[in-house]
Amino acid sequence: MSQRCPFCEKGEIHQSLTIKNEFGNFPIYLCDRCEMEYTPIKDQQIDEMLVQKHFFDEDLYTIANLKKVHEYWRGEAKHIKMLGYTSGSVLDIGCNTGEFLFCLGEGYQKSGIEIADVPASMAESKGITVYRKILEDCHFRDESFDIVTLYALIEHLSDPRALMQEISRILKKGGLAVIMTGDRKSMKTKLLGKNWHMYIPPLHQFFFCRKALTMVAGEFSLKEKYHFFGHGGMTFASNKLLKIAEKATLWQLFSLSGMNSIPFYDHYYGYFQKE
Ligand SMILES: [Zn+2]
Repeated sequence: MSQRCPFCEKGEIHQSLTIKNEFGNFPIYLCDRCEMEYTPIKDQQIDEMLVQKHFFDEDLYTIANLKKVHEYWRGEAKHIKMLGYTSGSVLDIGCNTGEFLFCLGEGYQKSGIEIADVPASMAESKGITVYRKILEDCHFRDESFDIVTLYALIEHLSDPRALMQEISRILKKGGLAVIMTGDRKSMKTKLLGKNWHMYIPPLHQFFFCRKALTMVAGEFSLKEKYHFFGHGGMTFASNKLLKIAEKATLWQLFSLSGMNSIPFYDHYYGYFQKE
């Protein structure tokens, strides 16, 4: 019996591996068309528990770590400005404590979505308008935003295809969608195999690649204008699940400057313009 891909909806999925961890055994399925992998997570309560428990990492907010966090986000802000988006309304989905929006600087109307309470309050204290509910429940009007960003968010969701459609709907024509997530086809991922630190179900349900994201984004009038591969900004994380990443030091061999458009690093940064 063959099953259809929940992301591109045209490919067939087949089990490619099993990930075992403290939360159970998770079959991972690979799509033969778009080449994303995913594991079906049924218990949304587990999801909710993990969101509240794991998405706020106090250790990140020591002064020394915060400096590194801000350096990282200022670098990311430069990419957005370089693409010509120097002002306008911004929605950061999964904004956490609002560090990215803070580092984006002046000239923008800033809002974020964050369902975990502690980080949401911290984002509000930075003057950011925070919606404490999932995107679909916000009911934004068509073409509400100039920029919509999703950093390390899409891999957590159970229906990323619906999210992609909703992002396209709320973006203005010519607006920018930024998606950063792990890339399962990167060289780092290939070296690590099932030990890749992104394989942490049920916290992560989808394991994307550039091909899958550009394919499905394109279906919703989102065209990739620019991309690069990076470390994902998680190298300083002390979160229990993300700590596994620190064991994977081999990837640092691939920190070659000027070569970031090829997938050595395991995080894909895609910049899509709404057509
Ligand atoms: Zn697919």
